[in-house]
Amino acid sequence: HAKDSGKGRYEVFDASMHKKVQNALSLESDIREAIDWNEFEPYFQPILQLADNKLKGFEALARWQSRKRGFVYPNDFIPLAEETDLILEIDLQIIEASCKKIKHWQNMFDDDSLYVSCNLFCKHFFSSSLPRDIEKILHSTGLAPQNLRIELTERALLENADVVLANMQALKRMGVKILLDDFGTGYSSLSYLHRFPIDVLKIDRSFISNVHEHENHRAIIKTIIDLATNLQMATVGEGIENLADAQLLQQMDCLYGQGYYFAKPMSALDCTSYIGSMLTN
Ligand code: C2E
Ligand code: MG
Ligand code: MG
Ligand code: MG
Repeated sequence: HAKDSGKGRYEVFDASMHKKVQNALSLESDIREAIDWNEFEPYFQPILQLADNKLKGFEALARWQSRKRGFVYPNDFIPLAEETDLILEIDLQIIEASCKKIKHWQNMFDDDSLYVSCNLFCKHFFSSSLPRDIEKILHSTGLAPQNLRIELTERALLENADVVLANMQALKRMGVKILLDDFGTGYSSLSYLHRFPIDVLKIDRSFISNVHEHENHRAIIKTIIDLATNLQMATVGEGIENLADAQLLQQMDCLYGQGYYFAKPMSALDCTSYIGSMLTN
């Protein structure tokens, strides 16, 4: 009897493995189709100046409006898109759509300071075609390079340092700013930081969340802000969910903030009314 159930377990295991592989294959082919069908679109989350709650720009966050799967969040497609390199194409589509929207809003609201900050998978920085890809998008959308920011994570700084540095320098020469995302969660070696032309550190949400109740998080954030200031970088606090955290960050000289307390990521349509309400009040 025991033998039977043992055998049964193997079959269940095989079946579930099989199902996993099948799911990954079908997700991959759906992502491929979605790229052709243009189903990826940016949502926009406001970034504000903490001293006066002035709207400065937006982070573009990919959403997938799948005709097969419905509304899909990044956590459910980015990992496989990274494994298969399909993210390279998705990122460029998101950047292009974002630049187009920001340019449109700049005209509509007569404010050419609004910027967009786009996430880029680390592998883009390992390829010498990156500056040309970005330049093409800026040219076709008419957005000034000063209004585009690129977010990368610490992962991009660990390999191929020469190519990564050359790409960053090329972007900087064009006028595009570089942000280091999720700062504090990656590889704790700080020795590389000063070698790269990074303009802004984004302090990871895990330190920000309810910081007014966590003395030790406060110490970490203060250290990151001091480090950034000494290296002439600005800071953005990510994932601010309440007034107390927003106020505390501002007191600690964090210049900019982003989070559900201010606004969730929005569709372009909702964002248009949001900008209207922010710029006229
Ligand atoms: P990220 O770049 O660190 O983006 C911030 C994430 O935190 C977003 O999740 C945002 O919706 C969420 N967030 C913002 N404020 C709050 C808050 O107050 N509370 C909470 N709980 N969450 C908040 P999202 O949109 O699900 O994106 C997840 C990650 O997926 C991003 O993290 C980024 O690493 C990746 N991603 C998103 N869009 C793209 C893209 O176009 N290209 C690439 N390569 N990666 C992307
Ligand atoms: Mg980001
Ligand atoms: Mg982040
Ligand atoms: Mg993140």
